[in-house]
Amino acid sequence: MAGWHGMNEGVSELSKVGRRRGLAWAMSLLPLCLPVAARAAAGAPEGTDPRAPHVHCEVRYASQTVPVDAWPTARPEAVAAVDIGERFRFKAVVRGQPGAGIQHIALSVHDLVAEGAPVPLAQQRLAAPFAPTLWNAPPPALTGWQHVYASGLGRELVYGCALRGQPPQAVREGAVPGDGAAQAGTAAAIAPALPPVTAPGGVPDAEVRLAFVGDVMLADGPGRLIARGGDPFAQVAQRLAQADVRIANLECVVAQGGKALDKPWTFRARPAVLSLLKRHVDVVSVANNHSGDFGREAFAEMLDRLAAIGLPQVGGGRNLAQAHRPLLIERRGIKIALLAYDEFFPRHFEAGHDHAGVAWSEDEQVVDDIRRARREFGADLVIPFMHWGQEHEPLANARQRQLARLMVDAGADAVVGTHPHVVQDTEVYRGKPIVYSLGNFVFDGFSALDNRTGWMLFMTLGREGVRHWHTEVVRQDVDGTPWPLPSPPIRAGHGASPLTK
Ligand SMILES: [Zn+2]
Repeated sequence: MAGWHGMNEGVSELSKVGRRRGLAWAMSLLPLCLPVAARAAAGAPEGTDPRAPHVHCEVRYASQTVPVDAWPTARPEAVAAVDIGERFRFKAVVRGQPGAGIQHIALSVHDLVAEGAPVPLAQQRLAAPFAPTLWNAPPPALTGWQHVYASGLGRELVYGCALRGQPPQAVREGAVPGDGAAQAGTAAAIAPALPPVTAPGGVPDAEVRLAFVGDVMLADGPGRLIARGGDPFAQVAQRLAQADVRIANLECVVAQGGKALDKPWTFRARPAVLSLLKRHVDVVSVANNHSGDFGREAFAEMLDRLAAIGLPQVGGGRNLAQAHRPLLIERRGIKIALLAYDEFFPRHFEAGHDHAGVAWSEDEQVVDDIRRARREFGADLVIPFMHWGQEHEPLANARQRQLARLMVDAGADAVVGTHPHVVQDTEVYRGKPIVYSLGNFVFDGFSALDNRTGWMLFMTLGREGVRHWHTEVVRQDVDGTPWPLPSPPIRAGHGASPLTK
Protein backbone atom coordinates (compact mmCIF):
# COMPACT_ATOMS: atom_id res chain seq x y z
CA MET A 1 0.00 0.00 0.00
CA ALA A 2 3.00 2.28 -0.23
CA GLY A 3 1.29 3.89 -3.17
CA TRP A 4 -1.30 5.54 -1.04
CA HIS A 5 1.04 7.18 1.42
CA GLY A 6 0.70 10.88 1.26
CA MET A 7 -2.87 10.92 0.01
CA ASN A 8 -3.98 12.94 2.98
CA GLU A 9 -1.29 15.57 2.69
CA GLY A 10 -2.21 15.65 -0.95
CA VAL A 11 -5.70 16.80 -0.18
CA SER A 12 -4.63 20.16 1.16
CA GLU A 13 -2.26 20.58 -1.78
CA LEU A 14 -5.08 20.02 -4.19
CA SER A 15 -7.25 22.48 -2.39
CA LYS A 16 -4.58 25.13 -2.63
CA VAL A 17 -4.15 24.52 -6.29
CA GLY A 18 -7.89 24.40 -6.65
CA ARG A 19 -8.32 27.81 -5.10
CA ARG A 20 -5.64 29.35 -7.21
CA ARG A 21 -7.08 27.79 -10.31
CA GLY A 22 -10.57 28.57 -9.24
CA LEU A 23 -9.95 32.23 -9.87
CA ALA A 24 -8.39 31.71 -13.27
CA TRP A 25 -11.19 29.38 -14.21
CA ALA A 26 -13.88 31.66 -12.99
CA MET A 27 -12.41 34.42 -15.11
CA SER A 28 -11.96 32.28 -18.18
CA LEU A 29 -15.41 30.77 -17.88
CA LEU A 30 -17.44 33.83 -17.13
CA PRO A 31 -20.31 33.88 -17.55
CA LEU A 32 -20.51 30.09 -17.33
CA CYS A 33 -19.67 29.84 -13.65
CA LEU A 34 -22.44 31.85 -12.06
CA PRO A 35 -23.81 30.13 -9.00
CA VAL A 36 -26.91 28.38 -10.15
CA ALA A 37 -29.64 26.43 -8.56
CA ALA A 38 -28.69 22.80 -8.71
CA ARG A 39 -31.57 21.13 -10.48
CA ALA A 40 -31.53 18.66 -13.27
CA ALA A 41 -33.18 20.12 -16.31
CA ALA A 42 -36.08 17.81 -17.06
CA GLY A 43 -36.61 17.55 -20.79
CA ALA A 44 -36.39 20.27 -23.40
CA PRO A 45 -37.00 23.87 -22.35
CA GLU A 46 -40.40 25.32 -23.15
CA GLY A 47 -40.93 25.97 -26.80
CA THR A 48 -38.03 23.72 -27.83
CA ASP A 49 -38.64 20.70 -29.98
CA PRO A 50 -37.12 17.81 -27.99
CA ARG A 51 -36.00 16.27 -31.30
CA ALA A 52 -33.95 19.36 -32.11
CA PRO A 53 -30.17 18.93 -32.03
CA HIS A 54 -28.93 18.69 -28.46
CA VAL A 55 -26.39 17.01 -26.22
CA HIS A 56 -27.19 13.98 -24.11
CA CYS A 57 -24.80 13.01 -21.31
CA GLU A 58 -24.71 10.17 -18.86
CA VAL A 59 -23.09 11.06 -15.57
CA ARG A 60 -22.15 8.20 -13.26
CA TYR A 61 -21.28 8.49 -9.63
CA ALA A 62 -21.72 6.20 -6.63
CA SER A 63 -23.52 3.53 -8.67
CA GLN A 64 -26.05 6.02 -10.01
CA THR A 65 -26.41 7.20 -13.58
CA VAL A 66 -27.89 10.65 -14.08
CA PRO A 67 -28.95 11.67 -17.59
CA VAL A 68 -28.28 15.30 -18.45
CA ASP A 69 -29.65 16.85 -21.64
CA ALA A 70 -28.75 20.30 -22.89
CA TRP A 71 -30.26 22.18 -25.81
CA PRO A 72 -28.61 25.07 -27.68
CA THR A 73 -29.03 28.42 -26.04
CA ALA A 74 -27.94 31.94 -26.78
CA ARG A 75 -27.99 32.60 -23.04
CA PRO A 76 -25.41 30.28 -21.45
CA GLU A 77 -25.59 32.17 -18.17
CA ALA A 78 -29.10 30.85 -17.71
CA VAL A 79 -28.13 27.19 -17.98
CA ALA A 80 -28.61 25.26 -14.76
CA ALA A 81 -25.93 22.96 -13.42
CA VAL A 82 -26.80 19.53 -12.06
CA ASP A 83 -25.59 18.36 -8.68
CA ILE A 84 -24.47 14.72 -8.74
CA GLY A 85 -24.61 13.35 -5.22
CA GLU A 86 -23.21 15.63 -2.55
CA ARG A 87 -19.84 15.84 -4.16
CA PHE A 88 -19.97 17.00 -7.75
CA ARG A 89 -21.65 19.60 -9.95
CA PHE A 90 -21.91 18.83 -13.65
CA LYS A 91 -22.76 21.42 -16.25
CA ALA A 92 -23.33 21.16 -19.96
CA VAL A 93 -23.60 24.40 -21.87
CA VAL A 94 -24.53 24.18 -25.53
CA ARG A 95 -24.14 27.37 -27.50
CA GLY A 96 -26.17 27.99 -30.57
CA GLN A 97 -29.52 29.30 -31.61
CA PRO A 98 -32.39 27.34 -30.08
CA GLY A 99 -33.78 25.00 -32.70
CA ALA A 100 -30.76 25.50 -34.94
CA GLY A 101 -27.36 23.88 -35.03
CA ILE A 102 -24.87 23.45 -32.20
CA GLN A 103 -21.85 25.72 -32.37
CA HIS A 104 -20.01 25.00 -29.18
CA ILE A 105 -20.27 22.66 -26.19
CA ALA A 106 -18.68 23.32 -22.80
CA LEU A 107 -18.78 20.55 -20.20
CA SER A 108 -17.52 21.15 -16.70
CA VAL A 109 -17.32 19.36 -13.38
CA HIS A 110 -16.88 21.08 -10.01
CA ASP A 111 -16.06 19.66 -6.59
CA LEU A 112 -18.64 20.95 -4.09
CA VAL A 113 -16.87 19.73 -0.97
CA ALA A 114 -13.19 20.64 -1.36
CA GLU A 115 -11.82 23.64 0.47
CA GLY A 116 -12.72 26.76 -1.46
CA ALA A 117 -15.56 24.91 -3.18
CA PRO A 118 -16.82 24.85 -5.82
CA VAL A 119 -13.43 23.86 -7.20
CA PRO A 120 -13.23 23.22 -10.95
CA LEU A 121 -11.96 19.71 -11.67
CA ALA A 122 -12.42 19.23 -15.38
CA GLN A 123 -13.55 21.00 -18.47
CA GLN A 124 -14.05 19.90 -22.02
CA ARG A 125 -14.78 22.17 -24.95
CA LEU A 126 -16.01 20.92 -28.29
CA ALA A 127 -16.60 22.98 -31.37
CA ALA A 128 -18.74 22.35 -34.43
CA PRO A 129 -18.62 20.86 -36.98
CA PHE A 130 -19.30 17.36 -35.75
CA ALA A 131 -19.02 14.30 -37.95
CA PRO A 132 -22.41 12.93 -39.09
CA THR A 133 -21.80 9.57 -37.47
CA LEU A 134 -21.46 11.21 -34.07
CA TRP A 135 -25.17 11.95 -34.15
CA ASN A 136 -27.49 9.58 -32.32
CA ALA A 137 -24.73 7.17 -31.35
CA PRO A 138 -24.86 6.17 -27.69
CA PRO A 139 -22.71 7.97 -25.13
CA PRO A 140 -19.76 8.42 -25.02
CA ALA A 141 -19.59 8.77 -28.81
CA LEU A 142 -18.86 12.48 -28.61
CA THR A 143 -16.56 12.81 -25.62
CA GLY A 144 -15.26 9.38 -24.70
CA TRP A 145 -15.74 8.38 -21.06
CA GLN A 146 -14.16 11.05 -18.93
CA HIS A 147 -13.08 10.16 -15.42
CA VAL A 148 -13.00 13.02 -12.93
CA TYR A 149 -11.51 12.63 -9.48
CA ALA A 150 -11.89 14.70 -6.38
CA SER A 151 -9.43 14.39 -3.55
CA GLY A 152 -9.94 11.22 -1.59
CA LEU A 153 -10.34 7.63 -2.59
CA GLY A 154 -13.31 6.43 -4.52
CA ARG A 155 -14.58 9.92 -5.32
CA GLU A 156 -14.83 9.37 -8.99
CA LEU A 157 -17.33 10.79 -11.40
CA VAL A 158 -17.55 9.49 -14.94
CA TYR A 159 -19.37 11.14 -17.78
CA GLY A 160 -19.86 10.53 -21.47
CA CYS A 161 -21.90 12.53 -23.95
CA ALA A 162 -23.47 12.09 -27.35
CA LEU A 163 -25.27 14.24 -29.90
CA ARG A 164 -28.98 13.77 -30.27
CA GLY A 165 -31.48 14.81 -32.92
CA GLN A 166 -30.98 15.66 -36.56
CA PRO A 167 -27.57 16.85 -37.71
CA PRO A 168 -27.65 20.11 -39.64
CA GLN A 169 -28.83 19.49 -43.22
CA ALA A 170 -25.64 20.61 -44.89
CA VAL A 171 -23.57 17.94 -43.15
CA ARG A 172 -23.94 14.82 -45.21
CA GLU A 173 -22.52 11.43 -44.59
CA GLY A 174 -19.65 10.54 -46.86
CA ALA A 175 -18.80 13.99 -48.15
CA VAL A 176 -15.10 14.67 -48.42
CA PRO A 177 -13.42 17.76 -47.01
CA GLY A 178 -10.84 19.70 -48.98
CA ASP A 179 -7.27 18.62 -48.36
CA GLY A 180 -6.31 20.23 -45.09
CA ALA A 181 -8.84 23.01 -45.48
CA ALA A 182 -10.41 23.98 -42.19
CA GLN A 183 -13.96 24.84 -43.05
CA ALA A 184 -15.33 24.91 -39.57
CA GLY A 185 -18.81 26.22 -39.31
CA THR A 186 -19.49 26.21 -43.02
CA ALA A 187 -21.83 23.94 -44.88
CA ALA A 188 -18.85 22.07 -46.26
CA ALA A 189 -18.73 18.52 -45.25
CA ILE A 190 -16.78 17.26 -42.39
CA ALA A 191 -16.10 13.58 -42.28
CA PRO A 192 -14.16 11.82 -44.99
CA ALA A 193 -15.84 8.85 -46.56
CA LEU A 194 -15.10 5.57 -44.88
CA PRO A 195 -12.45 3.65 -46.77
CA PRO A 196 -13.35 0.10 -47.74
CA VAL A 197 -12.97 -2.18 -44.75
CA THR A 198 -11.09 -4.75 -46.76
CA ALA A 199 -8.40 -2.68 -48.39
CA PRO A 200 -5.74 -4.72 -50.20
CA GLY A 201 -3.79 -6.70 -47.65
CA GLY A 202 -6.07 -5.58 -44.88
CA VAL A 203 -7.96 -7.75 -42.48
CA PRO A 204 -11.68 -7.00 -42.24
CA ASP A 205 -12.56 -5.08 -39.10
CA ALA A 206 -9.05 -5.31 -37.75
CA GLU A 207 -8.37 -3.22 -34.68
CA VAL A 208 -5.22 -2.11 -32.90
CA ARG A 209 -5.12 -1.00 -29.32
CA LEU A 210 -2.63 1.67 -28.30
CA ALA A 211 -1.71 2.76 -24.78
CA PHE A 212 -0.07 6.15 -24.32
CA VAL A 213 1.50 7.28 -21.06
CA GLY A 214 3.05 10.64 -20.20
CA ASP A 215 6.42 11.63 -18.82
CA VAL A 216 8.71 8.77 -17.80
CA MET A 217 11.80 10.04 -15.97
CA LEU A 218 14.18 7.22 -15.04
CA ALA A 219 16.91 9.20 -13.25
CA ASP A 220 16.66 10.25 -9.57
CA GLY A 221 14.07 8.32 -7.51
CA PRO A 222 12.91 5.91 -10.22
CA GLY A 223 16.56 5.33 -11.18
CA ARG A 224 17.49 4.49 -7.59
CA LEU A 225 14.48 2.19 -7.34
CA ILE A 226 15.58 0.31 -10.47
CA ALA A 227 19.16 0.12 -9.15
CA ARG A 228 17.78 -1.54 -5.98
CA GLY A 229 16.06 -4.13 -8.14
CA GLY A 230 12.65 -2.42 -8.09
CA ASP A 231 10.37 -1.78 -11.04
CA PRO A 232 8.50 1.53 -11.30
CA PHE A 233 6.11 -0.06 -13.82
CA ALA A 234 5.20 -2.97 -11.56
CA GLN A 235 1.73 -1.68 -10.60
CA VAL A 236 0.63 -0.82 -14.13
CA ALA A 237 2.44 -3.48 -16.14
CA GLN A 238 -0.49 -5.85 -16.44
CA ARG A 239 -2.87 -3.14 -17.54
CA LEU A 240 -0.45 -1.76 -20.12
CA ALA A 241 0.26 -5.23 -21.42
CA GLN A 242 -3.36 -5.42 -22.61
CA ALA A 243 -2.52 -2.92 -25.34
CA ASP A 244 -0.91 -3.99 -28.61
CA VAL A 245 1.49 -1.06 -28.57
CA ARG A 246 2.60 0.93 -25.51
CA ILE A 247 4.01 4.39 -26.08
CA ALA A 248 5.74 6.61 -23.50
CA ASN A 249 7.54 9.91 -23.41
CA LEU A 250 11.09 9.26 -22.15
CA GLU A 251 11.75 12.46 -20.21
CA CYS A 252 15.49 12.05 -19.63
CA VAL A 253 18.61 11.07 -21.49
CA VAL A 254 19.84 7.50 -21.05
CA ALA A 255 23.61 7.58 -21.39
CA GLN A 256 26.95 7.28 -19.69
CA GLY A 257 28.59 10.20 -21.43
CA GLY A 258 27.89 13.89 -21.64
CA LYS A 259 27.96 16.76 -19.19
CA ALA A 260 24.96 18.40 -17.52
CA LEU A 261 23.97 21.58 -19.29
CA ASP A 262 23.46 24.76 -17.34
CA LYS A 263 19.70 24.49 -16.84
CA PRO A 264 17.45 24.14 -13.78
CA TRP A 265 16.76 20.41 -14.00
CA THR A 266 18.87 17.81 -15.74
CA PHE A 267 18.02 14.11 -15.87
CA ARG A 268 20.38 11.35 -16.99
CA ALA A 269 19.44 7.72 -16.38
CA ARG A 270 21.82 4.77 -16.27
CA PRO A 271 21.88 2.62 -19.41
CA ALA A 272 20.81 -0.35 -17.30
CA VAL A 273 17.26 1.06 -17.13
CA LEU A 274 16.69 0.32 -20.81
CA SER A 275 16.17 -3.42 -20.50
CA LEU A 276 13.48 -2.80 -17.86
CA LEU A 277 11.88 -0.05 -19.96
CA LYS A 278 11.74 -2.34 -22.97
CA ARG A 279 9.71 -4.87 -20.98
CA HIS A 280 6.92 -2.37 -20.42
CA VAL A 281 7.05 -0.03 -23.39
CA ASP A 282 7.18 -0.63 -27.15
CA VAL A 283 7.96 2.90 -28.37
CA VAL A 284 9.47 5.96 -26.70
CA SER A 285 9.32 9.57 -27.74
CA VAL A 286 12.55 11.45 -27.16
CA ALA A 287 11.16 14.80 -28.36
CA ASN A 288 11.15 16.65 -25.05
CA ASN A 289 13.00 19.25 -22.99
CA HIS A 290 15.19 16.75 -21.08
CA SER A 291 16.51 14.36 -23.70
CA GLY A 292 19.25 16.88 -24.50
CA ASP A 293 20.14 17.65 -20.87
CA PHE A 294 23.65 16.22 -21.22
CA GLY A 295 24.42 17.50 -24.67
CA ARG A 296 24.21 16.21 -28.22
CA GLU A 297 26.72 13.42 -27.78
CA ALA A 298 24.81 11.94 -24.87
CA PHE A 299 21.62 12.27 -26.92
CA ALA A 300 23.26 10.45 -29.84
CA GLU A 301 24.55 7.81 -27.41
CA MET A 302 20.96 7.26 -26.28
CA LEU A 303 19.83 6.79 -29.90
CA ASP A 304 22.54 4.13 -30.30
CA ARG A 305 21.56 2.37 -27.10
CA LEU A 306 17.85 2.37 -28.00
CA ALA A 307 18.67 0.95 -31.43
CA ALA A 308 20.97 -1.67 -29.91
CA ILE A 309 18.35 -2.90 -27.50
CA GLY A 310 15.60 -2.79 -30.12
CA LEU A 311 13.40 -0.15 -28.52
CA PRO A 312 12.13 2.15 -31.30
CA GLN A 313 12.11 5.89 -30.72
CA VAL A 314 10.28 8.71 -32.41
CA GLY A 315 10.92 12.45 -32.43
CA GLY A 316 14.69 12.24 -32.47
CA GLY A 317 17.38 11.50 -34.99
CA ARG A 318 20.97 11.88 -36.05
CA ASN A 319 19.89 14.82 -38.19
CA LEU A 320 16.83 16.92 -38.92
CA ALA A 321 15.43 14.62 -41.61
CA GLN A 322 15.65 11.57 -39.33
CA ALA A 323 14.04 13.41 -36.42
CA HIS A 324 11.03 14.25 -38.59
CA ARG A 325 10.64 10.79 -40.07
CA PRO A 326 7.52 9.01 -38.81
CA LEU A 327 7.82 5.79 -36.88
CA LEU A 328 5.65 3.24 -38.67
CA ILE A 329 3.88 0.57 -36.69
CA GLU A 330 2.01 -2.11 -38.56
CA ARG A 331 -0.33 -4.45 -36.75
CA ARG A 332 -3.10 -6.59 -38.30
CA GLY A 333 -2.70 -4.85 -41.63
CA ILE A 334 -3.17 -1.35 -40.16
CA LYS A 335 -0.28 1.03 -40.66
CA ILE A 336 0.08 3.70 -37.99
CA ALA A 337 2.54 6.58 -38.28
CA LEU A 338 3.72 8.17 -35.06
CA LEU A 339 5.38 11.56 -35.09
CA ALA A 340 6.73 13.33 -32.03
CA TYR A 341 7.65 16.95 -31.41
CA ASP A 342 8.98 19.15 -28.68
CA GLU A 343 8.11 22.80 -28.45
CA PHE A 344 9.24 23.55 -24.93
CA PHE A 345 12.60 25.32 -24.67
CA PRO A 346 15.55 24.99 -24.93
CA ARG A 347 15.33 24.94 -28.68
CA HIS A 348 18.99 24.06 -29.08
CA PHE A 349 17.99 20.42 -28.45
CA GLU A 350 16.64 20.51 -31.99
CA ALA A 351 18.32 18.36 -34.60
CA GLY A 352 20.20 20.11 -37.39
CA HIS A 353 21.20 19.14 -40.90
CA ASP A 354 24.43 17.73 -39.48
CA HIS A 355 23.75 17.01 -35.82
CA ALA A 356 21.53 14.85 -33.64
CA GLY A 357 18.56 16.21 -31.74
CA VAL A 358 14.79 16.38 -31.47
CA ALA A 359 12.02 17.38 -33.86
CA TRP A 360 10.64 20.86 -33.23
CA SER A 361 7.03 21.67 -34.11
CA GLU A 362 7.17 24.45 -36.66
CA ASP A 363 3.69 24.61 -38.13
CA GLU A 364 4.62 24.21 -41.79
CA GLN A 365 6.97 21.33 -41.02
CA VAL A 366 4.34 19.53 -38.94
CA VAL A 367 1.73 19.81 -41.70
CA ASP A 368 4.27 18.55 -44.22
CA ASP A 369 5.32 15.63 -42.00
CA ILE A 370 1.72 14.52 -41.47
CA ARG A 371 0.91 14.61 -45.20
CA ARG A 372 4.14 12.83 -46.06
CA ALA A 373 3.40 10.09 -43.53
CA ARG A 374 0.39 9.16 -45.68
CA ARG A 375 1.70 9.90 -49.14
CA GLU A 376 5.26 8.65 -48.90
CA PHE A 377 5.05 6.13 -46.10
CA GLY A 378 1.57 4.81 -46.85
CA ALA A 379 0.22 5.27 -43.34
CA ASP A 380 -3.47 4.60 -42.69
CA LEU A 381 -3.40 6.67 -39.51
CA VAL A 382 -1.17 9.46 -38.26
CA ILE A 383 -0.79 10.40 -34.59
CA PRO A 384 1.48 13.22 -33.39
CA PHE A 385 2.76 12.89 -29.81
CA MET A 386 3.45 16.37 -28.50
CA HIS A 387 5.62 17.88 -25.79
CA TRP A 388 4.07 21.28 -25.16
CA GLY A 389 1.94 23.53 -23.00
CA GLN A 390 2.21 25.53 -19.83
CA GLU A 391 3.44 23.65 -16.76
CA HIS A 392 0.92 23.11 -13.98
CA GLU A 393 -1.98 24.56 -16.01
CA PRO A 394 -5.10 22.38 -16.03
CA LEU A 395 -6.28 23.80 -19.37
CA ALA A 396 -4.49 23.70 -22.69
CA ASN A 397 -3.43 27.11 -23.93
CA ALA A 398 -4.28 28.85 -27.18
CA ARG A 399 -1.09 27.65 -28.88
CA GLN A 400 -1.81 24.00 -28.10
CA ARG A 401 -5.37 24.35 -29.40
CA GLN A 402 -4.24 26.09 -32.58
CA LEU A 403 -1.54 23.51 -33.31
CA ALA A 404 -3.80 20.54 -32.51
CA ARG A 405 -6.40 21.85 -34.96
CA LEU A 406 -3.76 22.47 -37.58
CA MET A 407 -2.58 18.88 -37.21
CA VAL A 408 -6.09 17.45 -37.46
CA ASP A 409 -6.78 19.64 -40.49
CA ALA A 410 -3.58 18.26 -42.03
CA GLY A 411 -4.79 14.70 -41.49
CA ALA A 412 -3.88 13.65 -37.95
CA ASP A 413 -6.31 11.04 -36.54
CA ALA A 414 -5.63 11.99 -32.92
CA VAL A 415 -3.27 14.29 -31.06
CA VAL A 416 -1.73 13.28 -27.74
CA GLY A 417 0.42 15.49 -25.52
CA THR A 418 2.54 15.60 -22.40
CA HIS A 419 4.84 17.93 -20.46
CA PRO A 420 2.72 20.23 -18.20
CA HIS A 421 3.17 17.86 -15.18
CA VAL A 422 -0.62 17.79 -14.82
CA VAL A 423 -3.38 16.35 -16.93
CA GLN A 424 -5.22 18.87 -19.09
CA ASP A 425 -8.60 19.03 -20.77
CA THR A 426 -9.50 16.98 -23.82
CA GLU A 427 -11.36 17.90 -26.99
CA VAL A 428 -12.88 16.25 -29.99
CA TYR A 429 -12.25 18.33 -33.09
CA ARG A 430 -13.68 17.22 -36.45
CA GLY A 431 -14.31 13.89 -34.79
CA LYS A 432 -10.66 13.42 -33.75
CA PRO A 433 -9.67 13.19 -30.10
CA ILE A 434 -7.15 15.66 -28.72
CA VAL A 435 -5.73 14.72 -25.33
CA TYR A 436 -3.62 17.73 -24.42
CA SER A 437 -1.64 16.35 -21.51
CA LEU A 438 -1.31 12.91 -19.94
CA GLY A 439 0.57 14.38 -16.96
CA ASN A 440 3.42 12.67 -15.17
CA PHE A 441 3.67 8.89 -15.34
CA VAL A 442 6.96 7.76 -13.75
CA PHE A 443 8.40 10.85 -12.08
CA ASP A 444 9.42 11.67 -8.52
CA GLY A 445 10.04 14.93 -6.70
CA PHE A 446 6.50 16.31 -6.81
CA SER A 447 4.34 16.75 -3.70
CA ALA A 448 1.09 18.25 -5.04
CA LEU A 449 -1.59 15.69 -5.76
CA ASP A 450 -2.30 16.95 -9.25
CA ASN A 451 1.40 16.63 -10.17
CA ARG A 452 1.32 13.03 -8.95
CA THR A 453 -1.74 12.24 -11.03
CA GLY A 454 -1.45 11.05 -14.60
CA TRP A 455 -3.42 9.23 -17.26
CA MET A 456 -3.01 6.05 -19.21
CA LEU A 457 -4.73 6.70 -22.52
CA PHE A 458 -6.18 3.67 -24.29
CA MET A 459 -7.14 4.10 -27.92
CA THR A 460 -8.65 1.54 -30.23
CA LEU A 461 -7.92 2.17 -33.89
CA GLY A 462 -9.54 0.82 -36.99
CA ARG A 463 -8.13 1.46 -40.42
CA GLU A 464 -10.52 4.41 -40.75
CA GLY A 465 -9.60 6.18 -37.53
CA VAL A 466 -9.93 6.14 -33.75
CA ARG A 467 -12.90 4.00 -32.77
CA HIS A 468 -12.87 4.44 -29.01
CA TRP A 469 -10.65 5.93 -26.39
CA HIS A 470 -10.65 6.44 -22.67
CA THR A 471 -8.29 7.43 -19.91
CA GLU A 472 -7.46 5.71 -16.63
CA VAL A 473 -5.95 7.55 -13.71
CA VAL A 474 -2.71 6.64 -11.97
CA ARG A 475 -1.13 8.27 -8.96
CA GLN A 476 2.58 8.32 -8.17
CA ASP A 477 4.04 7.44 -4.79
CA VAL A 478 7.16 8.99 -3.27
CA ASP A 479 9.43 6.92 -5.57
CA GLY A 480 7.58 8.19 -8.62
CA THR A 481 5.91 4.81 -9.16
CA PRO A 482 2.42 5.03 -10.68
CA TRP A 483 -0.45 3.13 -9.06
CA PRO A 484 -3.82 2.67 -10.72
CA LEU A 485 -6.68 4.13 -8.72
CA PRO A 486 -8.88 1.38 -7.30
CA SER A 487 -11.93 2.11 -9.42
CA PRO A 488 -12.34 -0.32 -12.30
CA PRO A 489 -12.13 1.10 -15.80
CA ILE A 490 -15.40 1.94 -17.48
CA ARG A 491 -15.90 -0.47 -20.33
CA ALA A 492 -18.92 1.00 -21.97
CA GLY A 493 -16.91 2.93 -24.50
CA HIS A 494 -16.04 -0.34 -26.18
CA GLY A 495 -18.16 -2.28 -28.62
CA ALA A 496 -20.63 -0.74 -30.98
CA SER A 497 -20.14 2.95 -30.36
CA PRO A 498 -17.69 4.31 -32.87
CA LEU A 499 -16.23 7.58 -31.72
CA THR A 500 -15.38 8.88 -35.14
CA LYS A 501 -16.70 8.58 -38.64
ZN1 LIG B 1 8.86 18.19 -20.24
